[in-house]
Amino acid sequence: MIGGSGTRIWIALALLPIAAVIYGSGVPMNELLTFRLGGAAYYLSILGALGVGYAFVIGLLDRKVRESHENGMNLVDPVTGLPGRDLLADRLQQLILISEREASHVPLVVMGIDRFGAVNNALGRDQGDVLLAELATRLETTLRESDTVARLSGDEFAILMPSAQDGHGATTVVEKVRAELEKPFMIGDVPVEISASFGIALSPGHGRDAKTLIWHASAALGAAKESGTRVEFYSPDRHELNAEKIAMAAELRGAIEDRELVLFYQPKSSMNGGGIHAAEALVRWVHPHRGMIPPDEFIPLAEQTDLMKPLTMYVVAEAAKQVAEWRNRGLDMSVAVNISARNLSDVEFPNDIVAVLERHGADPKWIEFEVTESTVINDQSRAIVVLQTLCDMGIRIAIDDYGAGYTSLSYLTRLPIHALKIDKSFVQNMAEQRQDGLIVKSTIELGRGLGLDVVAEGVETEVVWNELADLGCDYAQGYYVSKPLPADELVLN
Ligand code: C2E
Ligand code: CA
Ligand code: CA
Repeated sequence: MIGGSGTRIWIALALLPIAAVIYGSGVPMNELLTFRLGGAAYYLSILGALGVGYAFVIGLLDRKVRESHENGMNLVDPVTGLPGRDLLADRLQQLILISEREASHVPLVVMGIDRFGAVNNALGRDQGDVLLAELATRLETTLRESDTVARLSGDEFAILMPSAQDGHGATTVVEKVRAELEKPFMIGDVPVEISASFGIALSPGHGRDAKTLIWHASAALGAAKESGTRVEFYSPDRHELNAEKIAMAAELRGAIEDRELVLFYQPKSSMNGGGIHAAEALVRWVHPHRGMIPPDEFIPLAEQTDLMKPLTMYVVAEAAKQVAEWRNRGLDMSVAVNISARNLSDVEFPNDIVAVLERHGADPKWIEFEVTESTVINDQSRAIVVLQTLCDMGIRIAIDDYGAGYTSLSYLTRLPIHALKIDKSFVQNMAEQRQDGLIVKSTIELGRGLGLDVVAEGVETEVVWNELADLGCDYAQGYYVSKPLPADELVLN
């Protein structure tokens, strides 16, 4: 707010040299104002006053930008120097108002860098910022001066083109930008290649205000990324889908609160006669009208919303209660819980886990977390810190679906892990498919070489069990041993 105590100090500072000049010279105020001052000292003092005044104005502007951030406004992006979301919205709103008077369209393009998370990880965050700044410069030089390029979020930019009056104009600009992105960026001595996807929305058809238009262009970008088409116009059908997802997310939130989620347990059997001492917790939604909903139908929704944390905490609490109960009955059991990428990017997660385990009397040593390769690779540095903290607490970590995602071996040695779970797609057919058998064999060797427990999941037949036993696999999980079952139906020994 202009006129706060800080501002008053600035005004006082600005007036100080002037007051000093007047006082020192004895020149009356009116003479000063009619510029009848003589002598270099006076001019110097006036220059000084102007300097302080200038600093005052800059200070105010700086303060306004800072305040805009404090108020949650995003006027200028500090990394690229481009306008931020709020400044873009302001300019877009002006253009929409003008276009309404002229009965014309305003196209808005939202551009997203493909797989920026991976690029950022490979380069490191600082160099990632350099890349973003270079990209901003390239976009600005490619586009017209009258166009606005803004940064919306981490890897999303918006382009506003007052000269492009329809969808055709917008696609021409998109093609121009895509052609420019084909040239690699030099980050230090390293040439870095990136590509981008684009979503386009046009006022008034896709929205009559800036906020709606930005949201719809972003939704189109999401569709372009998902479908791999790279460029998509907003389509109201997708909006319907979003509304459906929003409704289902609300329902899932209620289901967690109302404890409609239940855990089934699938045993992991020792392959060298050691019996069953571990089970994986697998969540199901017992819907009051739709019956049992499998996790594949609602976990992705939780991943896309803020529900992953409450869902995981719920599952960990239930699993902790169960394992404590088994232990009280004298059963030497541990339980595995599936953890999502979102959990590992949350630095508070380990503390929350400690609290839940304590509340239910479960020792961290009885708990294993299963994480997929992609979970860890997406946000490596933070994920490693969180994993290490969990590991230091005594929780075991297993890499789930091993072989199904990225095949980067280097991270295996850098992560605090205890077990590898070979993805069921290789295990199921290993008896018939030579290639699958080879992958299973080499994964078992790799795991043993690294001192990890190796678990084969998706073991459906005796033939596969025997082959795995011959290869020296440590544990088997699958329908051949047992389907996932409610805890009270499990046969444990
Ligand atoms: P996953 O972690 O790979 O779990 C194994 C899935 O394979 C389970 O499906 C299990 O029922 C199934 N399965 C087990 N044995 C066999 C077999 O011999 N043959 C075949 N064809 N399939 C077998 P489910 O329970 O439907 O879970 C699917 C996925 O949902 C899980 O895959 C996991 O990624 C996710 N999920 C389940 N519960 C949770 C949870 O609590 N939190 C999170 N984040 N994800 C979960
Ligand atoms: Ca799993
Ligand atoms: Ca798995």
